Amino acid sequence: MKNNLHSRKTMKLTFSFAKNLIFFFLLCAQVFSQSRSAESVIQKESLINTVSILASQDFDGRLPGSEGYNNAAKFAAEKFKELNLLPLGDSLFYQFLYVEYNRIDTPAVFSAIIDSVTIEYELGKDFVIRGFSGANRFSLPVVFCGYGISRPDLGYDDYKDVNVKDKIVMVFKQNPIWKIDNKEWGNAYPREKSLIAKSKGAKGILFVSLPNDSKPQPLIGSVMHGEGEHPVDFPQLHISIKAADDLLSMAALTISECQTKIDETKKPHSFLINTKANVIVNAHYEKNARTMNVVALLEGSDPVMKNEYIVIGAHLDHVGSQAGLIFPGANDNASGSAGVLEIAKAFALDKVKPKRSIIFVLFSAEEQGLFGSKHFVENMKIPKEKIVAMLNLDCIGYGDSIQVGNGKSSPKLWQIAKEIDSKHFNLMINDTWSGGGADATAFHEKGIPSLYFVSKYSYDHLHLPTDTVETLNPDLFEKIVRLAFLTAKQIADGKYEREIVR
Ligand SMILES: [Zn+2]
Repeated sequence: MKNNLHSRKTMKLTFSFAKNLIFFFLLCAQVFSQSRSAESVIQKESLINTVSILASQDFDGRLPGSEGYNNAAKFAAEKFKELNLLPLGDSLFYQFLYVEYNRIDTPAVFSAIIDSVTIEYELGKDFVIRGFSGANRFSLPVVFCGYGISRPDLGYDDYKDVNVKDKIVMVFKQNPIWKIDNKEWGNAYPREKSLIAKSKGAKGILFVSLPNDSKPQPLIGSVMHGEGEHPVDFPQLHISIKAADDLLSMAALTISECQTKIDETKKPHSFLINTKANVIVNAHYEKNARTMNVVALLEGSDPVMKNEYIVIGAHLDHVGSQAGLIFPGANDNASGSAGVLEIAKAFALDKVKPKRSIIFVLFSAEEQGLFGSKHFVENMKIPKEKIVAMLNLDCIGYGDSIQVGNGKSSPKLWQIAKEIDSKHFNLMINDTWSGGGADATAFHEKGIPSLYFVSKYSYDHLHLPTDTVETLNPDLFEKIVRLAFLTAKQIADGKYEREIVR
């Protein structure tokens, strides 16, 4: 009995000790979680996971107007909703805008018929279709037309002594680096070069990157097209230097020799090649397709300062797919989009609420001409003077160091990022630029201070099918997002006064 009592007492003591121990551990955990930094919510595993979703087949390269893009926007809106952010679009989180959209389906065929021998080319390897190609199918003789420029006012016309009617032209994608009378050639957009060729009677166009460049431009997916009406029935292909050489083989010339000849004489050297190109492009064009920015608000906690805003943005769109070939855009710009979502999470979960309000926005149609960010800036419900700063995240997952752009236009803002980097990461290079850049440009032009976060040497896979999640550098990615978050946090806490943009 005595023994029994003793043991019960011991049990009670042990129990109470255990209870205290548990309480102690709970306290420790709480202290630890309070001292845990807000930026530690930002984790590379989560960033990489988001990128792998956005860059997956399901989102089909996120071309504005496509179902793939709409699904990506829906995914982002759901993330904002889960974080209890307030919707700031026209309809919940969506701010709508209308853009040109061109869906490129199968079949996609390009082959050369040289001396009755057919050479079949592979999509993505020997040729790509321009994002705003017209649709048609034909087998036609090829005419080489130099730079595809017709400027009688400068005394230079690649089409002057050659008949391109009912033929397909092959031209350099870029303009010459030399000038006549020091006058500009104008831009070299594919649609503009196409419309010139079409006006001369051509049925389609093959673009070739300048072969004599130290690093000729690879076959990129691109929806940057330029001004003018869409030539609906006019195929536009970007072909490899090898394919161009094949086409020229009957003329016993290489494409490099053709460029040299024109550049040396500054005179056109156009001619009909005794070779046919067989082209099939299946595209469906919409002049006004609906797309959307995705916009959310986290209200500031300070009764006065909450009327001032920081915008944290990234473009969600990329260049889509063509005939089943996907351009995943993992770095460009699933990385920046994932960064914005992760920063939103870090702010939403932070126990200390920001004093200023924060707007998170994922822009559409950057790749076509920065249309989403322009639309956002032109249609803001908030006076632009109330936007203290804009942070843009674009291509932040690939490379080995961090660059923060636009520091020459917003030096005080840049200095905040630089000091944070010196303290935590030591990865930010001193080189910066002015004038905004990409989606920061529209803000910069309205006098809103802005920074552009990008990883240095970010562009090895730019607009290529190889821009996949596997190529990303998770450690760098996490650090650059934390840097952007910590910079935003300082601004949000009132440690930055809006400066005059230079
Ligand atoms: Zn891009």
